[in-house]
Amino acid sequence: MIIGIPKEIKNNENRVALTPAGAQELVKRGHTVYVQHTAGDGSGFPDHVYEEAGAKILPTIEETYRIADMIMKVKEPIEPEYDLVREDQLLFTYFHFASHEPLTNAMIKSKSVCLAYETVEKPGGGLPLLVPMSEVAGRMATQKGANYLEKPLGGKGILMGGVPGTLPAKVLILGGGIVGTQAAWMAAGMKADVTILDVSLPRMRYLSDVMPANVKTRMSNEYNIRELIKTADLIIGAVLIPGAKAPHLITRDMLKEMQPGTVLVDVAVDQGGCIETCKPTTHQDPTFTIDGVLHYCVANMPGAVPYTSTIALTNATLPYAIQLADKGWKKASKENVELATGLNVIKGDVVYKAVADAFDLPF
Ligand code: NAD
Repeated sequence: MIIGIPKEIKNNENRVALTPAGAQELVKRGHTVYVQHTAGDGSGFPDHVYEEAGAKILPTIEETYRIADMIMKVKEPIEPEYDLVREDQLLFTYFHFASHEPLTNAMIKSKSVCLAYETVEKPGGGLPLLVPMSEVAGRMATQKGANYLEKPLGGKGILMGGVPGTLPAKVLILGGGIVGTQAAWMAAGMKADVTILDVSLPRMRYLSDVMPANVKTRMSNEYNIRELIKTADLIIGAVLIPGAKAPHLITRDMLKEMQPGTVLVDVAVDQGGCIETCKPTTHQDPTFTIDGVLHYCVANMPGAVPYTSTIALTNATLPYAIQLADKGWKKASKENVELATGLNVIKGDVVYKAVADAFDLPF
């Protein structure tokens, strides 16, 4: 199969869909990989590294779309790309169709086959192509929070782990899933005093089995939240209710209960946020302050660490890309139910119910 890797053109997107190592694996299996000139630069992979791995470089995005049977991307195609997508072409990328009607209509019109990373689903539940970005965002949440706790940046002026003779920072994590667990590992490693709140007892049992002694778990309810926010230094929002907006566990009035310089990092901001006062911010202008409480709510945190994110994403997508390249999308999705759940649009028809429902389209 011919696989095309265009350069991402969405504002400030430095990731690329395939590492040189991933390209080599596909080439080894007899496939041809075309990478658009400079597509990997933002992630630290210049053209010559792809060429050494067996890929070919194409000068323009137009040529990359024209030649490829399968386009692999990171972000959904944006408007200038809509007309480049060809009939019968397979697109394997994040789409998030349900929140984007013009994109959905454009892909229907293109008569391409759209397989969305975010809906590839394990039979028992679990979204393997979302996990790596949650891992990155979780680890980064603690890193960012630790930084913003510094006084000149608006925080309380407390060091995460303290030093002998002082108390460590109190870190409160709302939601102990992928993001929350990774955030907790980082905070625990920095010797902070960490509390994870969740509603799932089995999850909290698991966490208390695997986490070190400086990580405690508490049931997530308003009573406990109101008590814990009074002394927390860093609060990380990491709640997810699949298919629904995040619940506002911290409401506007609760900010008054917090100490000035408390730092809030709401990773769940992409699902509406679990802190009422959070609104999406950007890497250029990441924070704002309300009632003396600093808010960090960047909606695409992994975009700031493209080297790590690109490798983590390829690690997860490559096994699926290999199946699609070896067998074609029809056979691959017949044999692997995870790929079948990833199919959202097939040659003009919406085949994923939530997307059809979102825009009243036939299903
Ligand atoms: P996950 O499903 O692994 O974990 C969510 C956890 O929240 C679960 O353990 C669940 O039991 C818990 N939960 C549900 N209701 C709760 C409540 N009322 N109180 C406390 N806990 C509750 O999800 P995840 O992969 O960790 O993702 C978390 C959020 O981070 C999602 O909104 C996701 O979209 C977002 N995210 C954001 C970025 C970013 O760049 N901002 C990147 C990746 C993920």
